[in-house]
Amino acid sequence: MQFQNPVFIPGPTNIPERLRKACDMPTIDHRSSLFGQILRPARDGVRKVLQSDIAEVFIFPSTGTGGWETALTNTLSDGQKVLATRHGMFSQRWIDMSQRLGLDVQVVNAPWSGGLPTDRYEEILAADIHHEIKAVLATHNETATGVTSDIAAVRRALDAADHPAMLLVDGVSSIASMDFRFDAWGVDVAVTSSQKGFMLPAGLAIVGFSPKAMAASRSAGLPRAFFDISSMRDSYNKNAYPYTPAFGLLNGLNESCRMLLDEGLENVFSRHRRIAEGVRAAAKAWNLDLCARSPELYSDTVTAICTPEGFNATGIVTHAADAYGVAFGVGLGEVAGRVFRIGHLGSMTDVMALSGIATAEMCMADLGLAVPLGSGVAAAQEYYRTHRPSSGV
Ligand SMILES: *Cc1c(COP(=O)(O)O)cnc(C)c1O
Repeated sequence: MQFQNPVFIPGPTNIPERLRKACDMPTIDHRSSLFGQILRPARDGVRKVLQSDIAEVFIFPSTGTGGWETALTNTLSDGQKVLATRHGMFSQRWIDMSQRLGLDVQVVNAPWSGGLPTDRYEEILAADIHHEIKAVLATHNETATGVTSDIAAVRRALDAADHPAMLLVDGVSSIASMDFRFDAWGVDVAVTSSQKGFMLPAGLAIVGFSPKAMAASRSAGLPRAFFDISSMRDSYNKNAYPYTPAFGLLNGLNESCRMLLDEGLENVFSRHRRIAEGVRAAAKAWNLDLCARSPELYSDTVTAICTPEGFNATGIVTHAADAYGVAFGVGLGEVAGRVFRIGHLGSMTDVMALSGIATAEMCMADLGLAVPLGSGVAAAQEYYRTHRPSSGV
């Protein structure tokens, strides 16, 4: 086994040396003032990454899935109605969790090649004159399909219908990599985790609550214990946790926010855009379609690439691991075997992306697809060469 190659899975992502060092800490007393020096800037940093002045940030030892549960159980009550779209594996799992928690989910089934059907949302919300829908669940970036949805348009649909439902957003594979505007989009709960845009090991669920969601938490009736934000908030007021915090990861999060903010969020977003454009140029040169059906849906953190009819896309992923020690993502759920995914988020450069594109090419050639070696690499090189950031790297 070797660990030299970067991974090209859409999380967990590559961990920069600086963050590995920040996570590797001697034990500290988490009840001492020292811990506050980690917790406070980490929460402030996350709020800035969310582009928010109002979000109250909570960080649980968990993963994005725990963040989903935090969002639901702290804002809703048994049997309450929520609106959600199933258009990929992650949106499907969040719907499944909502149902298991006892919520009444109005599910819109949409194609897995598309985004959130915001026009349909406007109709549904306008028709809900008694405001039975208490929350709209939205997956900003469907990691299974490489489809990014327009969260501002979901907010517009809510506002157009003058509907008071909360907007709960899964930003696990977008936050810290793609433009995410908590305040401007009127997000009520944003969910993410440590191992994607924040470039850390898995282990933290990171959530932001709006004042409206904080108010809803006071009457929300779903059972919650570990993920209760009110116990967390009481402890935060004393710079502490209701249990043992993962202080190494929190120190890493603090450092990660510093890295992102030092680079500048605009630069982080444009770097992801540029790298993604290169990967898409490669797919085009390979003559392969993307799962995302139109350009406004293209994700800048993960690209799901369709392989020809009758070819098992999962073979590329298995072969890349066995022959070259490189990780790509398999297709999940409905698109299993039909797509393979190149993750290009977090600690990623043009040059790293080129190595991933080159490896994918070798794998496809090895497995008999008509992909000329160098075709995708050349297309991406041309893109990167002509789109260098004006500020330098
Ligand atoms: C990775 C991911 C999750 C799940 O997060 P875990 O940390 O694996 O629990 C949820 N939603 C999206 C969009 C993701 O990409």
